Amino acid sequence: MTAPVPAAVTAVPTTGPAIEAHGLTKQFGRILALDRLDLMVPRGSIFGLLGPNGAGKTTTIRILTGLARPTAGSASVAGVKVSLDQPELQRRLGYLDQDPRFYGWMTGRELLELVGRLHGLSGRELRARVTEMLERTGLSAVAGRRIGGYSGGMRQRLGLAQALLHRPQLLFLDEPVSSLDPEGRRDLLELIAGLRGEATVVFSSHVLSDVERICDRVAILDRGRLVTEGPLEELLAAHARPIYRLMPAPGQDALVGDLVARLRAAPWSTEVSVSVGLVRVTVSDPGLAAGAVLPLVVASGVVLESFERARPTLEDVFLELVGPPAADQLDGRGFVRPREVADR
Ligand code: ATP
Repeated sequence: MTAPVPAAVTAVPTTGPAIEAHGLTKQFGRILALDRLDLMVPRGSIFGLLGPNGAGKTTTIRILTGLARPTAGSASVAGVKVSLDQPELQRRLGYLDQDPRFYGWMTGRELLELVGRLHGLSGRELRARVTEMLERTGLSAVAGRRIGGYSGGMRQRLGLAQALLHRPQLLFLDEPVSSLDPEGRRDLLELIAGLRGEATVVFSSHVLSDVERICDRVAILDRGRLVTEGPLEELLAAHARPIYRLMPAPGQDALVGDLVARLRAAPWSTEVSVSVGLVRVTVSDPGLAAGAVLPLVVASGVVLESFERARPTLEDVFLELVGPPAADQLDGRGFVRPREVADR
């Protein structure tokens, strides 16, 4: 016979998705910040929430962390039904935003000790955990310095340390690297990538290459709606077309002219351009092109110095799925205007 679980102890679920959201909608007056969002985030993934400014990323994260109430819809996070003032939810998640505010007069160690105490840690356990997090985020050497003197990258690493201190199952990072320089960006992204297998991470960004570097699944939002969701590799394979770059050896102008004509005539090519000797081919059917590009090169007799099948980027996927905004989506100043209830 199994012993009954005491009422005060909630069993932490170890199976099922990390996040499940159905029909999440958020209205601000007439503005639809989020429009019937369904989302499923598998446990253990590093999940990228991607979209341009105003897409609804922050609104989604604020609802999922219990900081804002949805106008409609429901969600569960780490097995807990999301609502405001939900201590069990707060125990299971960590949160870091783009510009965390800390007391500048505190030292990094003091801040982490304060956060640890708020999470119920004390004594030796608290000191050990704080030291561990300072080492992990590369802040040990500056732990005794006032936060007011930290660089942007140090502040974000401290933010990550405080978000991880209580060993959350789920970590929400809202545009965590957007304000950092390239070095700070790289360091923080490496730290986040190192969390794989330890916690589920939801990472929002409008910087596509950052998401591409660390995420295994992505959801793309645009004007409050989910455009697509899935494993990064599948998304890249399904939506972005590969690009071939061919560099012929010098002195073969006539042969290269013939090759370009053959490439342009191929049913699978969409555009063939030549610039500074480099032939660039975009294709509509990657399967057909894969077996046909090199035979065309051989048939034309061109000798190549290099041949490359370039990997599509998320930028390509985004442009293909979302495209440039339509004229009726722009306001008078050329900015994309938010979706409104009347647009539904
Ligand atoms: P960004 O990258 O600029 O932070 P985002 O994808 O996080 O964008 P949100 O901040 O979630 O987008 O905003 C979604 C839409 O909701 C935007 O049009 C925004 O102007 C609007 N919005 C957000 N908060 C409010 C609010 N408190 N009152 C009115 N409109 C709001």
